[in-house]
Amino acid sequence: MVELLRKRGIKDENVLRAMEKIPRHLFVPEALINYAYEDSALPIGCSQTISQPYTVAFMTEALKVKPGDKILEVGTGSGYQAAILAEMGAQVFTIERFEELLKTALEKLSKLGYNVIGMVGDGSIGWSEFAPYDGIIVTAAAPRIPQSLVKQLKIGGRLVIPIGDLDIQELYIIKKVSETKLDIKKKFGFKFVPLIGKEGWGEDSFRNNGR
Ligand code: SAM
Repeated sequence: MVELLRKRGIKDENVLRAMEKIPRHLFVPEALINYAYEDSALPIGCSQTISQPYTVAFMTEALKVKPGDKILEVGTGSGYQAAILAEMGAQVFTIERFEELLKTALEKLSKLGYNVIGMVGDGSIGWSEFAPYDGIIVTAAAPRIPQSLVKQLKIGGRLVIPIGDLDIQELYIIKKVSETKLDIKKKFGFKFVPLIGKEGWGEDSFRNNGR
């Protein structure tokens, strides 16, 4: 899997080392273990997915994580992305809408020896209690940049978030240059589950889309 990520252009050795070390098969349902090291997203229950390894690698590289960084992850899902961040030495805070997913993810992370702090809630408005963050990674797609997340970033910090409609999104790599200035780079062609919440998609728009 890691060789494939290298071939696809991932260069950050710290990201590649963490992805080599974390056993992805522990984060997928037992019935799908044979597919754990393929470069594809897989279902994890609650109609949600563990992201494709390339997407995890690309987003983590874009976040430019350093040991000791305080990182907020929105969308815990399986816990795999949180494990990668923790393995890279970050202090990880993670929020998930579904209690069932959060509970399972935190149990797995704890068994692997990672001290990740998590809560059930609407991550589209961030987690102000532990702000400001060096980095925020959102693993579900929003219609626009959530301003609460920008507020909770340190100056110089990065927000990596898919923005677009419900079918396809661009990955925004946002650097907070000052309180009023953002530097935004975009990469086209990603597909995420929707960020449901106050600064994401409303439950209604999601249902109206027929999913
Ligand atoms: N990072 C995850 C992993 O490593 O498995 C992948 C997560 S999945 C692609 C996106 C997750 O975002 C889903 O588990 C979904 O329930 C969650 N989510 C969607 N909207 C959310 C919100 N407003 N707050 C917190 N979690 C949310």
